[in-house]
Amino acid sequence: MALPLSLYGLSPEDLVKVLELPRPFEGKQIYRWLAKGVTDFQEMSDLSKAERERLSGLMPKATSSEVADQHADSDGSTKLALKLYDGSLVECVMLENGKGEHTACLSSQVGCAQHCAFCRTGTMGLERNLAAEEIIEQFIHLNKIEPASHIVFMGMGEPLANLDNVLRAIAYFHDKDTFNLSLRRITISTSGVVPGIRRLAATNLPLRLAVSLVSADDRLRNELMPVNRTFPLADLKRALQEYQEGGGKRFTFEYCMLGGTNTTESSAKKLAAYIRGLDVIVNLIPYNEAAELPWSRPDEKEIGKFCRYLDMFGVKYTIRYSKGRGVNGACGQLATKTKEKAGSNQ
Ligand code: SAH
Ligand code: SF4
Repeated sequence: MALPLSLYGLSPEDLVKVLELPRPFEGKQIYRWLAKGVTDFQEMSDLSKAERERLSGLMPKATSSEVADQHADSDGSTKLALKLYDGSLVECVMLENGKGEHTACLSSQVGCAQHCAFCRTGTMGLERNLAAEEIIEQFIHLNKIEPASHIVFMGMGEPLANLDNVLRAIAYFHDKDTFNLSLRRITISTSGVVPGIRRLAATNLPLRLAVSLVSADDRLRNELMPVNRTFPLADLKRALQEYQEGGGKRFTFEYCMLGGTNTTESSAKKLAAYIRGLDVIVNLIPYNEAAELPWSRPDEKEIGKFCRYLDMFGVKYTIRYSKGRGVNGACGQLATKTKEKAGSNQ
């Protein structure tokens, strides 16, 4: 089934053509309404009445619909499940930090081909890439809950394996007639797909990059993250050094802490050696549990001990306690099963 036309994929000029708008400025008017989450032409109050009537019911305005939302009141995060045109489900999460700022955590694929051993999404395998429209629509749905000031591609999927669509969606978020979101507030997180990092570097866009390192030991990383067998640590480091060569490009290492596995003194030492020569901060993320996976979350004592090792070896780090755990919406907890084959779009 081909993707039904979503108005979210269209520029103001395309809207004029597709909707056969008699007045070109109406393209931008509709474009702006859509970005506000208004999809009913009847509500687009600056269009003439006759035009609103004509447009109503012309075609689907979005390719996805909300099937469930869950609130985790303790930390203010909300996870949404969206049903896509082909019945696949994809999840996205709105996170709130202590300062009242909101970050939209978006998915780039249904499932993921990377099969990281500690990640629920990895257990699904890859169903398919998301189209740019489908990525944009996640943000539109989330933004109706609260306006988001930041976006992270840390939901389902490997964004660098679907970079064209991710970049198209980012161009939309950055557009001054939609959200005018600074590229510096958008983070792409990757498991370490080296050609993707090179492609991203070549765009010269000031996007933020996060690299999920998890281990600085090839043997352990091969086991935890199969992507390491294709792009081992040395190749990854070379690509990241090149990424930083032009200057001004920042990235972080994400380090999912697995109890009793990558939190030893020798793990810290290898991490310190690995980051030498890179301008990077390590983001420690204590593992979030998933019933079907065998790992354990390190307790505070173990976290504290690993931090002391990092201090000893001079590694700069922060600890990120994931939001969204109450709704299984935290890092690594997103996975969808239901796949009803449904025809309708909205
Ligand atoms: N595919 C990309 C982005 C999505 S995963 C990537 O791997 O970077 C987003 C983050 O969640 C990554 O940093 C990943 O290491 C982390 N993560 C995955 N499973 C996790 C889990 N069970 N607990 C904590 N973090 C996890
Ligand atoms: Fe895919 Fe990222 Fe999960 Fe690995 S951690 S399986 S790359 S979503």
